[in-house]
Amino acid sequence: MTKQSRDDPTQSFKPNISSTSISLPHLTEGEEQEDQINWLGLLDITSYDFPYIASLLQTAYADWLVEMTDVPAPCPVEWFATDFKGELLKPGTTYPENERALDIATEVAQACLIRRDVATSTSGTGHCIAVPIVTRHTKEVFAVLGCQIANMDEAGISFAQGWVKMAAGYFRTCFYKRFESLFVLDLLQVQKQAKREEYRRSILFQVVQKLHDQIDVDSVLTEVFERIAGMYPGAKVELLMSQDHLSRDPRVKSLQLQGERDHMCVRAFMEGRMLRTEKRGKDDNTYLEIAAPLVGKQGVYGVFHLVMPREEVEEVDLQLIGMLADTAGSAFENAKLYEQSNLLVSELRLINELTKRLNQSLRLKEVFKFATEELLSIFRAEYCCISQIDKDSDFFEIMACNIPSLSKENFPKDYGFSGLVFSTREPIILSDYKAYGNITSRLMDETGARSLIAAPLVVRGEVIGAIMLAHREDRFFSYENYRLLQVLSSHIGLAIANASLHAEVQRMANHDMLTELYARRYLDDRIQELMKRDEGGSLIIVDIDLFKQVNDTYGHQAGDKILKQVCSIIKSTVRKTDIAARWGGEELAIYLPGADVHSGYQIAETIRLRVAMETEPQVTVSCGIAEWNHDSEKISVESLFYLADMALYEAKKNGRNRTVIGFPPNE
Ligand code: GH3
Ligand code: MG
Ligand code: MG
Repeated sequence: MTKQSRDDPTQSFKPNISSTSISLPHLTEGEEQEDQINWLGLLDITSYDFPYIASLLQTAYADWLVEMTDVPAPCPVEWFATDFKGELLKPGTTYPENERALDIATEVAQACLIRRDVATSTSGTGHCIAVPIVTRHTKEVFAVLGCQIANMDEAGISFAQGWVKMAAGYFRTCFYKRFESLFVLDLLQVQKQAKREEYRRSILFQVVQKLHDQIDVDSVLTEVFERIAGMYPGAKVELLMSQDHLSRDPRVKSLQLQGERDHMCVRAFMEGRMLRTEKRGKDDNTYLEIAAPLVGKQGVYGVFHLVMPREEVEEVDLQLIGMLADTAGSAFENAKLYEQSNLLVSELRLINELTKRLNQSLRLKEVFKFATEELLSIFRAEYCCISQIDKDSDFFEIMACNIPSLSKENFPKDYGFSGLVFSTREPIILSDYKAYGNITSRLMDETGARSLIAAPLVVRGEVIGAIMLAHREDRFFSYENYRLLQVLSSHIGLAIANASLHAEVQRMANHDMLTELYARRYLDDRIQELMKRDEGGSLIIVDIDLFKQVNDTYGHQAGDKILKQVCSIIKSTVRKTDIAARWGGEELAIYLPGADVHSGYQIAETIRLRVAMETEPQVTVSCGIAEWNHDSEKISVESLFYLADMALYEAKKNGRNRTVIGFPPNE
């Protein structure tokens, strides 16, 4: 019902432009053009409309009575009018209300309706004339206009009939004027409605276009808010999101699925359909509360919650809001998927880059250092600590760390967060260490950090260490960070394992298996390097005396044992910077960087004496020493060995168990 007809209770007939009961006569093409201007005149009612035009008739009759007051009548006259059934129209009738007069009027009106022509009756008081009022086109009688006049002669009656007919024609005009204005008003209303709908559709179209252009989740939500606010200025809008969606918009909140507060929204979310309810506000106005779910193809993401004045909302608005929410749902989903795929792509790029760079170096120290730097920058963390389990001590050993007080520490395997990561083999995300309180961590305590993400370093199913990243801000790391660290840690673990393996192979290649001294090649290479760098150095060659006999006497295995004893005496006698190697067989060589022959002699003597005292079965050794410095004529590894070997030969020749210093031939 339109606003206009609601305000006027007398109006019950509402022309319906789509109704077929109101006829527009069929016109030929030529007539159509001519009548386009006068189309309203072609509009008419039919007998189907008669039951609904009572109020229109009454208003038209009232209009007509007012108009007629200015028209001079030929004689005193009392008017009445009836509808298409002959029932008298009420307000405004001037007809005497005595029963007899009313009966006469009704009778004459009935006669007129039956005859479809003028009817007249004569009684003692005068004459009663009734004239039919017919429709414009089909000429059906839809009302009767009548009157009572005083007695008069035949000619007078005939004149009066003509006068009443004329008045009836005027009454019909009054009726059609009312009918047309009602029709036009309704058309305007329909047009207004159509315009509003068109506006809404265009808004929806724009939103759809705009939303699908948006690939950023926040922009999608902002766009929808703005559109709703623009269309319904009186509406309070908020968006309740089911997942943790971080948005700077204060209208975006999280949907409390367990809470009572958002009951209607929770239901709309669960059922995936729009719900609405009316409620009375504090201002005593009626409001409509709407919960429209944000539905995508893969699920429901949240609920739009609107509260708006009841009179601002029509059925089409609800449809529009529903469509807006649907559009927003799929746009949100697209944007979210796009965001996720972007994240995945950048994650893959990052992993690719990191592994490439990690594998560029096979030096363990560099791998740890590089991983620490990268992790700090990727996660924008303030602190990073990578620890590895030392197989001998079974302790976590900090391998790389940007916290100086922790950089050389060892921790038991069950200590702190690395202990937790080790035992659960799972990564950790901690939003606030201060509020947690279950685990004590030196990393967190010494830095004052509150946020932490940690992951185990797993290689071939075994936890070999842990990565920890911390920040002083609470809730600093996101769930995505936690997931990414988990992925990165497996790559870092692999790089560490590779570097460890490489280091082990290198160690094996540089060492002699039996004696655990360096191998000859390593010694050669090192001396060569040091000759370029240093001012001088000494070389001792140690040879076990009459070792063949020892083997023959005690067996080869015992011989090996003695060889090992001699080597361990050498190891414990020399400094860390000295290089002790197995030169070959039972000949051993020690290079003393920067040392001259005299200090070399002291060391050789210490070794010789200790061997004589500490070996079991007892053996002795002979030592030959040589040195090099920048005064030497020839500086080469070969000449140094040659000199030392010559000195050793001297020692053997002179009775063994002694140390001889070798000098260049010209000295
Ligand atoms: P000297 O040096 O005092 O002149 O006498 P020698 O008997 O030690 O000298 P020679 O060079 O003739 O023999 C060296 C022996 O050392 C030969 C070999 O059986 C023994 N030998 C060399 N390497 C090993 C080893 O790895 N284990 C054992 N058990 N014996 C070894
Ligand atoms: Mg020997
Ligand atoms: Mg020998």
